[in-house]
Amino acid sequence: MWLDVATFARRAGVRTSETFDDAVVGAGILGLAHAYHLARRGRRVVVIERDDRARGASVRNFGMLWPIGQPRGALRELADRSLSAWLEVLGASGIWHRRTGSLHLAHRDDEAAVLAEFASDQRPGEGLELLEPAEVIRLAPRVRPHRLIRGLWSPHEVAVDPREVAASLPGWLAADLGVTFRFGLAVTGAGPNGLSTTAGPIEAGRVWICSGDELRYLYPDDLRRSGLVRCKLQMLRTRSAGPDGSLGPMLAAGLTLRHYAAFRECPGLDRVRARIASESPRLDRFGIHVLVSQNALGELAIGDSHEYGEPVEPFDSAEIEGLILDHLGAFLDVDGLEIASRWHGTYAKHPERPYVRLEPAPGVVVVTGVGGAGMTLSFGLAERVVADALDDR
Ligand SMILES: Cc1cc2nc3c(=O)[nH]c(=O)nc-3n(C[C@H](O)[C@H](O)[C@H](O)COP(=O)(O)OP(=O)(O)OC[C@H]3O[C@@H](n4cnc5c(N)ncnc54)[C@H](O)[C@@H]3O)c2cc1C
Repeated sequence: MWLDVATFARRAGVRTSETFDDAVVGAGILGLAHAYHLARRGRRVVVIERDDRARGASVRNFGMLWPIGQPRGALRELADRSLSAWLEVLGASGIWHRRTGSLHLAHRDDEAAVLAEFASDQRPGEGLELLEPAEVIRLAPRVRPHRLIRGLWSPHEVAVDPREVAASLPGWLAADLGVTFRFGLAVTGAGPNGLSTTAGPIEAGRVWICSGDELRYLYPDDLRRSGLVRCKLQMLRTRSAGPDGSLGPMLAAGLTLRHYAAFRECPGLDRVRARIASESPRLDRFGIHVLVSQNALGELAIGDSHEYGEPVEPFDSAEIEGLILDHLGAFLDVDGLEIASRWHGTYAKHPERPYVRLEPAPGVVVVTGVGGAGMTLSFGLAERVVADALDDR
């Protein structure tokens, strides 16, 4: 449900002055996560979003909170911490989510070897289990048994519906934590004393810029120098899979092993990469791996591809869509499922770093470049960024 600013303010008893402790640019998931952690500290927070609602990567993704994709060590710990914060927020706000866990499927011996290597190196609490095909099908009845060798079960992954999160979270932040929202207002400049916007200045002690892959307007020179690259991803959504159409856990298969940093430590990964590169070079050319999640309505989100660099083509490729659907149909029973919508999303990513945090002026922090893990890391990353800025004095 969307609430207008006046309703937010009325429900939250928000003061009307335009002076805030913190101004957050962008109502994508990173902006909302920063607003949450700041407001929890009792600070007066305003979030400014140029669109009438968030329309960027934060509503175009799978809604996978996916700690299993993060490499073991600091980033996995950040993802686990982020998931705990997410669960607190989802529980308190009543926003739909499902603790589905995840399954990675192996259809070739080299993929099965990587899953075994990954599971054998697990740390306490990861709860990974290698499953025989029959156990996979019991958990995920739509998975095709054909050529399935094994699955890797992880209990931690959580499904959210990104559209519902972006629609409902601002209302909850306003009502429960007193965050002020200004939608339909573009920020044109930011500095130590606050923001200039298309509707005049907003005074704030600190500015947090979470403007996603919009790298052109606020501190463009710093962002250009940071090495961030934009990436375009194609996605699809089916109509509801029906009452008997439960997906079970969110699904990934062999192609995904070469996508997430988590699997890079597995010695057998090079063999998987080399085989896919020689068997199906177009999958590498378009950066395709296939993931599936399901929302409360039973609709499946399916994707995706990765095309890096400018320009980001406005038009989507039928060839990419065909490759994604072919690969999906090889491991999932999609008979009778109709495609309801198609779209692409974009995000900013750094070739080596998991995210980019800049301080281009006193009291101004820019946080972006979370790439394909922005939903997963958002609440943990924002908590850390806020603590680093406010507690290290
Ligand atoms: C297809 C796809 C699938 C993905 N799947 C997953 C997944 O399943 N799990 C996962 O963890 N991650 C996933 N990701 C990554 C994740 O969606 C992103 O990392 C994350 O949403 C980035 O959030 P953000 O807030 O930084 O950016 P955005 O969502 O892009 O938000 C930035 C906001 O800032 C606003 N803005 C920009 N400039 C201004 C300005 N000057 N004034 C006012 N407002 C401004 C924009 O309008 C926008 O709403 C996926 C991404 C894509 C594209």
